[in-house]
Amino acid sequence: MEDLKSIIRDVPDFPKKGILFKDITTLLADAKSFQRMVDLLANRYIGEKIDKVVGVEARGFIIGAALAYKLGAGIVLVRKPGKLPSETFRKSYALEYGTDTLEIHTDAIQKGERVLIADDLLATGGTMAAVVDMVNELGGEIFECCFMAELEFLEGKKRLPEGKTFSLLKF
Ligand code: AMP
Repeated sequence: MEDLKSIIRDVPDFPKKGILFKDITTLLADAKSFQRMVDLLANRYIGEKIDKVVGVEARGFIIGAALAYKLGAGIVLVRKPGKLPSETFRKSYALEYGTDTLEIHTDAIQKGERVLIADDLLATGGTMAAVVDMVNELGGEIFECCFMAELEFLEGKKRLPEGKTFSLLKF
């Protein structure tokens, strides 16, 4: 894993002073690393019955779509406000840097469907906790919340359903 970790670029003071931003675009742009990252995550879930993968805007779309394709699942988009055209369910939450709101189409997940949620990075867990609430609200059954990377010192895992968090790379 160290090679995958080392290809993620650290950008100090982005988007504001004091934040060390983990820039995953360097990993995504490297063909072998991108393929390996997707395969390592997908292999954890292949053979499980997963109906939908939920990807969180924007970097979670990339990982979520790749996983959904590999798992033969549908991909559901959780987006910033005003982007989804049909009826939505909306949730506001606190971020490591600021606050934000997310939306999901109310008909994107059917009651009882098994859902894997994917995002690039787990920081404080506020984003994923909001998405977990949204999926629960729609009646989905959360299989796991998966991340390419996790900032362990922020203890975001504590805000998510116990035993249902997986991150490939830990910082
Ligand atoms: P959080 O809600 O605090 O877990 O933040 C998670 C979301 O914010 C993810 O979608 C990340 O893409 C982004 N994010 C938060 N902190 C960082 C960071 N230090 N480096 C890169 N992305 C971050």
